[in-house]
Amino acid sequence: MSIVEFKNVTKRFGENIVLDGIDLSIDAGEVVVVVGPSGSGKSTFLRCINVLETIQGGDIVVNGQSVLGPPAQVRELRREAGMVFQQFNLFPQLTALENVMFGPLHTRGTPKGQAREQALELLAKVGLAERAGHYPGQLSGGQQQRVAIARALAIKPLLMLFDEPTSALDPELRHEVLKVMQDVAEEGMTMIVVTHEMEFARKVGSRLIFMDGGKIAEDGDPATLLSQPPSQRLRDFLQHVA
Ligand code: ADP
Ligand code: MG
Repeated sequence: MSIVEFKNVTKRFGENIVLDGIDLSIDAGEVVVVVGPSGSGKSTFLRCINVLETIQGGDIVVNGQSVLGPPAQVRELRREAGMVFQQFNLFPQLTALENVMFGPLHTRGTPKGQAREQALELLAKVGLAERAGHYPGQLSGGQQQRVAIARALAIKPLLMLFDEPTSALDPELRHEVLKVMQDVAEEGMTMIVVTHEMEFARKVGSRLIFMDGGKIAEDGDPATLLSQPPSQRLRDFLQHVA
């Protein structure tokens, strides 16, 4: 069953056409890695899925519900996707534990004891059980990003969206975040990951999408596309990120 469906989607900022008639269907359990040059619309693509952006043409259907539906439906739909950003966006005045508890308490109405228990489990899962009482400022970038992943998972999302989750991290801290993402993928989560980490794309991705000029230029098996890029555009791009 398809979890995310783009039907001839157009997204414009003024005259700037950022998504140009995108058609795409993503099934449950797929790990879709999205690559492309800066400005090719990757972040906008993700933001349209959790309705942080409105579209000017076509339709996006998430778990059977259209982003063009009534406001109450759109609010619900927005909660289907957990999002992880390049800049971790944790609440600085809340501890790691309180950050992870925040969504369940305030958007899901989960009782406090239960939210706390689940948050502790999630922190353990991302390897941060010992850091539950730390504030973001007391954590490394890699640890903060792992808290951000735990926080996104806490709302029990249907799918997870990652927007360059390791780009702000020093190379030696990227691995710990990528490992957690791999664990999440191996549990069967549907994931859409914008990243320049080609090793992750090859190892964890089930599908690779190359965005270029507002269109999906390539869409296929990561290993095949990376070892035998079918177009000069993709070859050029891969040379730049390698
Ligand atoms: P990417 O993530 O691939 O680098 P983006 O989705 O961030 O690309 O941006 C795609 C295009 O949309 C760029 O030309 C960018 O300048 C433009 N854009 C993105 N967000 C906005 C916005 N809020 N207002 C106007 N233009 C925007
Ligand atoms: Mg971006």
